[in-house]
Amino acid sequence: MDLYEHQARELFEEHGILVPRAEVTDSPKEAREIARRLGGRAVVKAQVKTGGRGKAGGVKLAADPAAAELTARQILGMDIKGHPVRKVMLAQPVDIETEFYVSYVLDRAACRFLAIASAQGGMEIEEVAASRPEAVARVPVDPARGVTSAKATEIADAAALPPQAVDVLVRLWQVLVREDALLVEVNPLVRTRQGRLLALDGKVTLDDNARFRQARWGAADTDHHDPLEAVAAARGLNYVKLDGEVGIIGNGAGLVMSTLDVVAGRGARPANFLDIGGGASAQIMADGLSLILSDPAVKSVLVNVFGGITACDAVAEGIVRALDTVRLTKPLVVRLDGNNAAAGRAILDGRAHPLVQQATTMDVAARQAAQLAHTA
Ligand code: GDP
Ligand code: MN
Repeated sequence: MDLYEHQARELFEEHGILVPRAEVTDSPKEAREIARRLGGRAVVKAQVKTGGRGKAGGVKLAADPAAAELTARQILGMDIKGHPVRKVMLAQPVDIETEFYVSYVLDRAACRFLAIASAQGGMEIEEVAASRPEAVARVPVDPARGVTSAKATEIADAAALPPQAVDVLVRLWQVLVREDALLVEVNPLVRTRQGRLLALDGKVTLDDNARFRQARWGAADTDHHDPLEAVAAARGLNYVKLDGEVGIIGNGAGLVMSTLDVVAGRGARPANFLDIGGGASAQIMADGLSLILSDPAVKSVLVNVFGGITACDAVAEGIVRALDTVRLTKPLVVRLDGNNAAAGRAILDGRAHPLVQQATTMDVAARQAAQLAHTA
């Protein structure tokens, strides 16, 4: 789960990293008050879980409280890369001398973390990384040793960061460890004209596996990338939006992943996938199918269920229930196998919907779904 900038800022502050004074609001009128409290001028910043806000017009300097209200009203109405802006943060403006970049990110392949740092931080960091990779230092961090002062010095030296950055790097590592984060990023980390280092923008991605001990953020993740992902999360379904044309429903992560591969192997691309889990009930199947069908990118749907704890007749009942409540406009290929498969197939045969066809193997089912998606 990603945190909002203002939440990341809060964590940085708690761990002793300097940040500008700031407050969050959803009201332009209150923005005016906040700007007043901050001394008049304020940087008004959209709170959305996506990068590039500055370039999208979501970060603006307001010269006085009245301008802050106007700017807040304007930014609160924006949509940045599909993310509606519901809150803005107003921060005390900082006199920037230099912008740096620092982050720690989990390097799964290498089973360790990677410190990435650059003296050329700011909004063009991706550009810098692409055109002048030597300006971006990458230093492996052994998670068991962590970032000691010595390690932080190594990172700061590799990226030609000023000496004060050593302390920031150690503290930023503490944020990562104590908050169970997979990524912490500060861009820009700025040196002010007074020579202090401040974190002006932050991104923190928490490890969802640690949610049980990070209750603080439990209710915070309402900003899903996709509206259907939000619906799915609310119903307790594991749904992921992809960008192809075949909707995929399966039970169990392993089977669902293999189904994605087999569909891809048949020349189609998954539009999304939904894991209804082990022991799925008819209701879950019905909810899941209506969810998948409401994705406009879906041209055909493949239901691939291997019944273990899940009984195929319950899955078939769920499909029939869904067919009674949502009008099926896209072809549906169903492959049921395992526990009560024969009973499940009989239920679907009995319903005899013209857009529903059954296959007995995953491979045949994937081929049919891919073909149907192409001819749709
Ligand atoms: P992002 O575009 O989503 O990464 O948003 P940032 O918070 O990083 O802001 C983008 C840019 O706005 C930064 O790189 C800074 O150059 C500038 N900026 C942000 N806050 C301040 C500030 O307090 N003072 C000044 N002078 N510039 C700021
Ligand atoms: Mn930034």
